Amino acid sequence: MEQLQGAENLLVLGGVKKYYPITRGILHRRVGDLKAVDGIDLSVRRGETLGLVGESGCGKSTLGRIILRLEEPTEGEVFYDGRNILEASRVEMQLLRRKMQIIFQDPYSSLNPRQTVGRIIGEGLNIHGIGVGRERRERVEQVMDVVGLRPETIHRYPHEFSGGQRQRIGIARALALNPEFMICDEPLSALDVSIQAQVINLLQDLQEQYDLTYLFISHDLSVVKHISDCVAVMYLGRLVELAAKRDLFENPCHPYTRAILKAVPVPMPGARKERPKHLEEGSEAHKPLLGCAFQPRCPEGEAACSREAPLFREHRPGHWVRCFKCVPGGTETVGP
Ligand code: ADP
Ligand code: MG
Repeated sequence: MEQLQGAENLLVLGGVKKYYPITRGILHRRVGDLKAVDGIDLSVRRGETLGLVGESGCGKSTLGRIILRLEEPTEGEVFYDGRNILEASRVEMQLLRRKMQIIFQDPYSSLNPRQTVGRIIGEGLNIHGIGVGRERRERVEQVMDVVGLRPETIHRYPHEFSGGQRQRIGIARALALNPEFMICDEPLSALDVSIQAQVINLLQDLQEQYDLTYLFISHDLSVVKHISDCVAVMYLGRLVELAAKRDLFENPCHPYTRAILKAVPVPMPGARKERPKHLEEGSEAHKPLLGCAFQPRCPEGEAACSREAPLFREHRPGHWVRCFKCVPGGTETVGP
């Protein structure tokens, strides 16, 4: 943990867990826990992008909410700029909230349909009491211009904009407070493929221009490939692989990473996306397991994998894998 808290790391997570109680009957008796996030250690370097990938329901958004302290973790620590934010006071948290922003997946439901674009984008300025009247309006117009929205449209309502433009409104709202860190939670998922590239280019330009640090969440590896410096692959609340982007794409070690890499859509007209059979949702996926959580769906699993859970280990410098098939410091025992 101490090493991870070096000055180059803006965000450091240590052993973060979030368990939701599973209850039964009219008395809501607690019969178990849904381990949405189950022990995540992670760091994001200043000015860089960490791509967080995993299928729907694996705990990505929950982790994002914990980082922003919209939800308290069951266990673990969250350090932002060297400070444990779980111990931050209300006043300190208010200052931190200006520095940490989020862009949501669905630009349709995350924008209030009854508010003008000017109000929506200026919401944060309003909450934090930054600027008044004209000053505030000028700031809103300025960020609208930065994200490629015409400032004259400041009095319009969300329904008057296209999906891509609405996501730009969401980005402008996040940008208005001059943040350092942004969580982009599946910001492209609700957009047409033709618009996705524009939004990702905008996010990349903004990162460069304003020295932003991103946690970029997606269920799609091909999306994070463009924007990430490092990639973390998550499966049922835990990381299964973590590496520099190039290393991960050239040398995927975990069978789950390899499977989702194969499922990356081929960007060719008429080409069909093939989803490997073992990635179909299995009913056993949420059952508590003694061994490796991926074992029931793993094409390479052995009997031993169902008896004991593999640890997250540094397979090569900077390349972490949670799989028995990967020998630390050595070569893999199985081919891709
Ligand atoms: P992702 O963003 O990767 O799709 P989520 O973080 O939204 O995943 O959810 C992870 C798991 O936690 C899911 O099984 C989801 O149903 C569960 N979950 C999320 N929020 C709650 C909650 N407030 N109460 C109970 N279960 C929740
Ligand atoms: Mg989510």
